[in-house]
Amino acid sequence: MGLVNCRECGRLFGTESDETLCSRCRESGYESDFKKVRDYLYANPGADIEEVSEATEVERPRIMKFLREERIEIVDEENVLLNCSRCGKSIKTGRYCASCEAEVKKELSGALDTMKKINGKFQKPAATKKTTEIYTRNIGDKK
Ligand SMILES: [Zn+2]
Ligand SMILES: [Zn+2]
Repeated sequence: MGLVNCRECGRLFGTESDETLCSRCRESGYESDFKKVRDYLYANPGADIEEVSEATEVERPRIMKFLREERIEIVDEENVLLNCSRCGKSIKTGRYCASCEAEVKKELSGALDTMKKINGKFQKPAATKKTTEIYTRNIGDKK
């Protein structure tokens, strides 16, 4: 038996199988909702979120969550379902549009390089007048 984090709520729970949802989330129908949404989209690839929500009786926020997790994709260019977290362009799945995704990756590696450079040059700052003052005051207090 192993301990895993619930994929939905993050709660730690024990499992003997490859279960990824805690009992609470399983009971709340998270997985069966996902299957309903997925099956509906499979049968109706052009469906928008309203339609999916109505047909499957799964609430919109939950469908949005599936989308954000990139587990499903709604194929409808006309519908603004998700927005790129960076430029606000409408996207179908994930967090960023394709061009921002590339930019973000570039920025991340750039930031890492900068950090490495700073760490390389990092030196212990010389004692300032103020720290010296505090130090001598503490010594004085202790007598
Ligand atoms: Zn859970
Ligand atoms: Zn973007």
